[in-house]
Amino acid sequence: MARLRLNADIMSEATMPADLDEVTEAAELAVATGDATTFFAVFRASDMPFLLNLHPPNAHVAVTIASLHAIGERSPGLAFGVSQHMAAMLAFGLADGMLRADASTARVVDTLLEEVFAKRLLVANTTSHAGGDKIGAPGSTITDTESGFVVSGYSTFLSLATEADKLIFLTRGRDGSPVGVVTDLVGNPALKVSDELLFGDHLVLADTRKVNFANLEVSRNSVIGADSQLDIFYLVQLACQNLCVASLYLGGAHRILEETRQFGLRTTLPTGAALATADSFSAALGRLAIEYLGAQHLLRAAAAIVLEIGAAALIEPSAARNRLLRISAVKHQVARVIEDIATECRKLVGTRAFMNGHPVARIGAEVVFAALGPATEKLIERNVGALYLKEI
Ligand SMILES: Cc1cc2nc3c(=O)[nH]c(=O)nc-3n(C[C@H](O)[C@H](O)[C@H](O)COP(=O)(O)OP(=O)(O)OC[C@H]3O[C@@H](n4cnc5c(N)ncnc54)[C@H](O)[C@@H]3O)c2cc1C
Repeated sequence: MARLRLNADIMSEATMPADLDEVTEAAELAVATGDATTFFAVFRASDMPFLLNLHPPNAHVAVTIASLHAIGERSPGLAFGVSQHMAAMLAFGLADGMLRADASTARVVDTLLEEVFAKRLLVANTTSHAGGDKIGAPGSTITDTESGFVVSGYSTFLSLATEADKLIFLTRGRDGSPVGVVTDLVGNPALKVSDELLFGDHLVLADTRKVNFANLEVSRNSVIGADSQLDIFYLVQLACQNLCVASLYLGGAHRILEETRQFGLRTTLPTGAALATADSFSAALGRLAIEYLGAQHLLRAAAAIVLEIGAAALIEPSAARNRLLRISAVKHQVARVIEDIATECRKLVGTRAFMNGHPVARIGAEVVFAALGPATEKLIERNVGALYLKEI
């Protein structure tokens, strides 16, 4: 009987991105050296950041999942960084109809995407959360001036911070309403990215840093405000981000499984037989493989829900929220599976998992962010619970 190839559903011929081998080799190099310069040169030269321009929605979603899963196998941190760009591109593709409902919004988006494709740029995004003692507090505000707008304040969370060229961010008007802004991240003295990594010891290659807006001037044609579709676009972006996050960390879990499998095959018991021949080892690995396969099916279900968004030209806020909740629930469940795989494989490999930079411990420490990134596990549970308890 042929060996069970666990990731066959995600990595098929149809979903395999061009230049995959070059990109993943460069990701391995980034992990080995701690320097992602080569990785980003190869990534920018590949099709991966520009799938929106190359594929219809169906294939765009499938190739994005496969790409992030493959980079996540090498480094969840690095994959998280590029997922910021890839999730934004997915959201722009799926929300095209609703973004076109307002002519000035459409102009801002078209200008951004033309520049991204023409110059092969990468886009980061931030919701400008303050991240301090008050949960959900916005860190920045935007003010109307005679010539345009000025943004002041900060955002605690910005990944892909020193590599991206463009920044899309959400800020708040004086009345608290959300406003979207597109700006240059590079060569912009009013936009200061911190020298320090936020998750330095844990998720280095995600390159997450604090960013300050020091009276950042933005022109009127770079701002999306007072557009009823902006709130909905934010929900679509979150849905895409949840799908991307689940895919990339599941890639990490697949690598952990594969490393554990190989450990079992090459390590011998006192009897001289391979560890993998022990019933305890094969049953434990089998249970985790089943969990991984189930998580893949959940991902495919989430991808189908994301595509439903793309199929509708306009979408009601309640329908967008409903779909986001279902995709968040998938992300929640996939994150639990990933954590279980990381914990149990660490036990199967034992202390050797912590020696010589072994991937089981290294990747195991990174995948815990699956439950902490947007949306947080407890918040998803709270939202699903509240909805489930609602009287009809
Ligand atoms: C690795 C990483 C990279 C990131 N990169 C980016 C980025 O590039 N751009 C970006 O915009 N963001 C980024 N984020 C931030 C992300 O968008 C979220 O803001 C962040 O993950 C929220 O985490 P927190 O710990 O601040 O949670 P909080 O929202 O502060 O929650 C803390 C606790 O309070 C609970 N809680 C929160 N709200 C409520 C409520 N209303 N009622 C009851 N309980 C509540 C939560 O469940 C949790 O237990 C990143 C996050 C991570 C982990």
